[in-house]
Amino acid sequence: MNIALIAHDKKKDDLVRFAMAYTEILKDHTLFATGTTGLRIMEATGLTIHRFQSGPLGGDQEIGAMIAKNKMDVVLFFRDPLTAQPHEPDVSALIRLCDVYAVPLATNMGTAEIIIKGLERGDISWREIIAERNAEASKDFKK
Ligand code: PGA
Repeated sequence: MNIALIAHDKKKDDLVRFAMAYTEILKDHTLFATGTTGLRIMEATGLTIHRFQSGPLGGDQEIGAMIAKNKMDVVLFFRDPLTAQPHEPDVSALIRLCDVYAVPLATNMGTAEIIIKGLERGDISWREIIAERNAEASKDFKK
């Protein structure tokens, strides 16, 4: 499955620790991240991560574009609720798109724990049906 990892600056240490704790689960999936978050996680875990732009430079929007194509299956976004972000509109847009496409989204460590355990148990396997439908639809589109 395609998983997006994003953390605001004050939450990056938490997401790095989280990724270290769950490397064995994450390594079986295709990982995407905003620039700095991805670099930090790769350095700490050795996981391979496709890195987009840094969040304030458009990385959240790049991940949002994948969600809009229904190609993102899980979003783990450790938000900092106590610091104003220059790219707040991008953050809101990303969260909104998760709701549009019913993408499992964690905005804090507590929910991320539940999602990652659900992922391991197969609770999010219904996303694979969506991926198959997407593939069918793009075949039809090409005809
Ligand atoms: P960053 O972006 O991983 O490049 O710091 C995250 C964000 O602030 O949205």
